[in-house]
Amino acid sequence: MSQTNAYATHGAKDALVPFTYPLRAVGPSDVRIRVAFCGICHSDIHQARNEWGGAKYPMVPGHEIAGVVSEVGKDVKRYKVGARVGVGCFVDSCRRCENCTDGFEQFCDSGCTQTYNGVHRADKSPTYGGYSSEMVVDEHYVLRIDDALPLDAAAPLLCAGITTYSPLKHWQCGPKKRVAVVGLGGLGHVGVKIAAAMGAEVTVISHSDKKRADAARLGAKHFINTQEKDALTNAKKRFDIILNTVSEGTDWNALLGSLRRDGAMVMVGLPSTPVPVHAGSLISQRRRLTGSNIGGIAETQEMLDFCAQHGITCDIETIEPKQINDAFERVVRSDVRYRFVINAQQLAPA
Ligand code: NAP
Ligand code: ZN
Ligand code: ZN
Repeated sequence: MSQTNAYATHGAKDALVPFTYPLRAVGPSDVRIRVAFCGICHSDIHQARNEWGGAKYPMVPGHEIAGVVSEVGKDVKRYKVGARVGVGCFVDSCRRCENCTDGFEQFCDSGCTQTYNGVHRADKSPTYGGYSSEMVVDEHYVLRIDDALPLDAAAPLLCAGITTYSPLKHWQCGPKKRVAVVGLGGLGHVGVKIAAAMGAEVTVISHSDKKRADAARLGAKHFINTQEKDALTNAKKRFDIILNTVSEGTDWNALLGSLRRDGAMVMVGLPSTPVPVHAGSLISQRRRLTGSNIGGIAETQEMLDFCAQHGITCDIETIEPKQINDAFERVVRSDVRYRFVINAQQLAPA
């Protein structure tokens, strides 16, 4: 059985260290993938540090995976050896429930199988993510990456891309719509590019002035620094959609106040503390507070193709695997422009 070289954490307060595990055998509908790049999503940090509870150790994080197919099972139809592919936040689901058959595998009634920090449906063995040299994944949960997209800058689309594309599409982002993206991080910067490509007028809401110039470069027309006095009061009733990507607490009621009638604030950021919202913030202007969780397989493919068509990739800083722990610290400090991507080619298959 071949081994996989990876980086894992063994506890909530532990650093990630080199780790080796046996690669799952390639079944009839599986593809074997040589991982080329894997993004560092803030969710990797929340889970590695057990900030959401339920962490299983050892944990090999990583769900923004781009690589190349190196072997295919006998029944595989969609991919050939050499295909450029991606894997996102889940690698299986029940495939029978209403959500799965409707293309919302992320909401599978029995829970989709997370790419890491989950268990395989067949044998209950742990799932390990993309901070690895190789992976074996059922072809139905693998995405095609167009030749127009470089694998390194496309990798974060597998989570950050779909997490922003799906709610923007659902809430009808498009021309004449005013969209605010709160938090210009990994998710936020892709959200700005996608919303602008959909034709919306985009505003970035950030908690300092540091990213003002970047916001404009990424496609935002306006910028609000929440540290400035009355920043959000001045934006009252302005937005149709607020895409809230922050990983920490913020002034939820002031943000809701900046929605116009029937506007929606979509939570995609997942702070570990509850969100304190005053009912009056919703009642006034019939506002909606809602959420969104990644996206299904078909929509993820649609997003990748949309990005290829519009030339959308992520702004990345590529790191060596041994720099993962430093990168985690820098993400927490919002000190990344805008996604760390691990060069997994430096993790040789064992
Ligand atoms: P990230 O790169 O760390 O970006 C988060 C941004 O939030 C930062 O860049 C910063 O933007 C803002 N922020 C950070 N600390 C803040 C504070 N103390 N006060 C106010 N704003 C703060 O994280 P990410 O990878 O984009 O992920 C963002 C969140 O989405 C995480 O909670 C993650 O777990 C979650 N997530 C959810 C889904 C889903 O399907 N729903 C998928 C992926 C990730 P500014 O500097 O511009 O203020
Ligand atoms: Zn993620
Ligand atoms: Zn299901």
